Amino acid sequence: MSLQEKLEALKVATVEKIKAAEDLQLLNQIRVETLGKKGPITEVLRGMKDLSAEERPKIGSFANEIRDALTAEIEEKKAALEVAAMNKALAEESIDVTLPGKKMAQGTRHVLTQIMEEIEDIFIGMGYQVVEGYEVEQDHYNFERMNLPKDHPARDMQDTFYISDEILIRTHTSPVQARTMEKHDFTKGPLRMISPGKVFRRDTDDATHSHQFHQIEGLVIDEHITMGDLKGTLEALMQRMFGADREIRLRPSYFPFTEPSVEVDVSCFKCGGAGCNVCKHTGWIEILGAGMVHPNVLEMSGIDSEKYSGFAFGLGPDRIAMLRYGVNDIRNFYQNDVRFIRQFKGE
Ligand SMILES: [Zn+2]
Repeated sequence: MSLQEKLEALKVATVEKIKAAEDLQLLNQIRVETLGKKGPITEVLRGMKDLSAEERPKIGSFANEIRDALTAEIEEKKAALEVAAMNKALAEESIDVTLPGKKMAQGTRHVLTQIMEEIEDIFIGMGYQVVEGYEVEQDHYNFERMNLPKDHPARDMQDTFYISDEILIRTHTSPVQARTMEKHDFTKGPLRMISPGKVFRRDTDDATHSHQFHQIEGLVIDEHITMGDLKGTLEALMQRMFGADREIRLRPSYFPFTEPSVEVDVSCFKCGGAGCNVCKHTGWIEILGAGMVHPNVLEMSGIDSEKYSGFAFGLGPDRIAMLRYGVNDIRNFYQNDVRFIRQFKGE
């Protein structure tokens, strides 16, 4: 095989290899092997000194021709591979803006928060202020100012957790009332307030009792406030919460801080009074306690009980939520089980 034929065969074989090369690394390898200092073309050019003067230019220019042709072939393939690599990267990194996005999990307000806000809205609409207070309280505000001196037997109904002899966690939101009463300036108008919040008692937890629960207590003090005002207010509240047809009835009861005191029942919102499971077949549901503020409570807050009178009531958002949604265990509200909580998405 003549030198010329060898070069021609080398060219054909190399062009095949270049065409088949699938990446830049392989292509570079072909370039080094064929055109590099130790490659066959360089070798031919190096061996030119042994050729005759006649052959030398012919082979020399042929070898250069082939080197140029292969260089051009490699450059062309290199450009093609670079474009392909770029297109591949672009395709992999592209964002399809038409794909549906991932939905963020959205929380919901706790069912008790929803009930409390609903009740707050009703009272704000009637001109009440919403006052929050301390969960850790003084015995003085929690008991004594509520007409429950240290040795009073009714304290047993509200046993709690003591931090010291004088400091405890509140058993009702009444201390907020005591603190508000002593500051209220009656020359600027009547006192109308509700106090929502957590309260604590040393109850054994069962389906209807929890050591922690919620209260919303209300208080109105002005001149000439009567039991009629209390009944009208509570009737309006129950009708807003359980339907316009609701009626209420008052039964005599006892609380140390009100006199007279009443238990308030609402006509059953489920059966309308005919009798069902919710109302235990009586047609009535026990819903809250209330009464006229005891003169002692007014006097202890520096309010003249001859001039002023008032009513107070306390209701349990937990109980209202249980009745309305048919929840049979109060502990569900405090266990943070999302399968339970998720059911009350609200509006
Ligand atoms: Zn009923």
